[in-house]
Amino acid sequence: MNVHANVPVNPAAPPHHAAVIAGKHVPTAEWIDVLDPADGRPFARVARCGAAETDEAVAAARETYEHTWRDTTPAERGRVCRRIADGLRAGRDLLAETETRDTGKPIGQSRTDVDVAARYFEFYGGAIEALGGETLISRPDLLAFTLREPYGVCGHIIPWNYPLQVAARTVAPALAAGNCCVLKPAEDAPLTPVLLAGIALEAGLPPGALNVVPGYGHEAGAALAAHPGVDHLAFTGSREVGASVMAAAARNIVPVTLELGGKSPHIVLPDYDPARAVPLIVASITEHAGQNCSAGSRLLVHAAVHDELVAALAAAFRALRIGPGLTDPDLGPLISAPQRERVLGHLRQGRRDCVTVTGGGIPAGAAYEQGFYVEPTLLDRVDPRHPVFTEEIFGPVLAVTSFDTLGEAVRLAEATSYGLAAGVWTRDVGTAHRLARQLRTGQVFVNNYSAAGGVELPFGGCKRSGIGVEKGFEALREYTRCKTVAIHTRPWESSASDEEGCEG
Ligand code: NAD
Repeated sequence: MNVHANVPVNPAAPPHHAAVIAGKHVPTAEWIDVLDPADGRPFARVARCGAAETDEAVAAARETYEHTWRDTTPAERGRVCRRIADGLRAGRDLLAETETRDTGKPIGQSRTDVDVAARYFEFYGGAIEALGGETLISRPDLLAFTLREPYGVCGHIIPWNYPLQVAARTVAPALAAGNCCVLKPAEDAPLTPVLLAGIALEAGLPPGALNVVPGYGHEAGAALAAHPGVDHLAFTGSREVGASVMAAAARNIVPVTLELGGKSPHIVLPDYDPARAVPLIVASITEHAGQNCSAGSRLLVHAAVHDELVAALAAAFRALRIGPGLTDPDLGPLISAPQRERVLGHLRQGRRDCVTVTGGGIPAGAAYEQGFYVEPTLLDRVDPRHPVFTEEIFGPVLAVTSFDTLGEAVRLAEATSYGLAAGVWTRDVGTAHRLARQLRTGQVFVNNYSAAGGVELPFGGCKRSGIGVEKGFEALREYTRCKTVAIHTRPWESSASDEEGCEG
């Protein structure tokens, strides 16, 4: 695996990463600079694909689907997926370094991302052999059953925050199920998805089964979303772009999975366990500097324990180390200058209208003048109508509001248009069950948060956080369509029930 570049150029130029189409590295006429968020400088260039490259990639995926991949057995596809997992693990150090330079995240978190990406391929490589249809109880003269069949060509559009993990999360079940894929990474962090395609080829995935078309959203992304040759679309990213992808899917009448944003609450009851809760609440809003769709960005805390918990969190926030991702701090920089400006805008509003317990701006010191750093920030006494309570900030900002009753806690949790995840902290099993059932979110974590990644756990949003499910066995259903077959077992005998007519 060449992680430094996939197209040879002048050695003085930054490494160039071409598209991967039909198993070949395809350079483009124009390239996009890839910046290191730790210092804001370009360190690589990536292909700028448009409609032409997207057409080629969709055609390659179709060709491989029809002539190779859909005729393989689940066992064969499973073996290839497991070899891809091995390839990812073998390339762990280089992949993690690339991910950190591309996204800014601490190198320890990037290593975990590689491990999780490998687990996706391993998990779906095994799980696909257990995917089957159902035998249907119908009439005595009919044998009816369902088949799960691949869609054909799947389009995957992913964001910049977890490029390798999200690429693996969406592509591994699609490939295992027999589809061929066209993957469009985000322009801000495109490199590890390109490397993944190279690793997959080395692992024996047929050329054309996984194509990667880096480029801008309004060019390669829009072309892929609208492409009439795509049979299924999976989008992970912002709500606004998700809506436009869904509109494009509607024009072609293809199914779409949307994994969008969140404003996930922690609900802390007086009988919580501080030793367990504090580190996980801190991690849930500071991992990758809060640029995580399921970041625990709101703290709803019972008034009886408000002061002690806020004090403990403030001390933990102040102790966090901030720095370039390659030095493995607790917090790296944000992805880009515009993203930092968005977060700082929220912090200005928060400082004006709420109580800033700690943080609130750019960390002081010459070390932070370059790069896109923001302090971990705790805002207290946040009004539930305030934008820092209702809007996804996508930075290390925790908004705190207190409550007196469980009913009030649920109302506060529900007071945003998002419904991705929630954390519940209590020793009372009855309260935990009650909240788990009442909260309109895709995942509820009781006395933990994120279940350490949880490759096996289905993940999706309620409300405006998305449609459909990724992860877990459920994702294999998402990437297959259900076909019903009904066989008349006595076709030579006429039967009164044959005259019942057709439906539809
Ligand atoms: P984004 O929507 O700006 O971009 C996501 C992807 O869409 C990128 O590849 C981008 O190039 C592409 N894109 C942009 N415009 C497009 C268009 N017109 N047509 C087609 N594609 C287009 O999101 P982002 O800023 O990269 O990521 C942050 C957002 O992603 C946050 O809201 C975050 O919560 C969400 N997210 C959700 C999950 C999840 O699983 N629910 C995971 C990670 C991130």
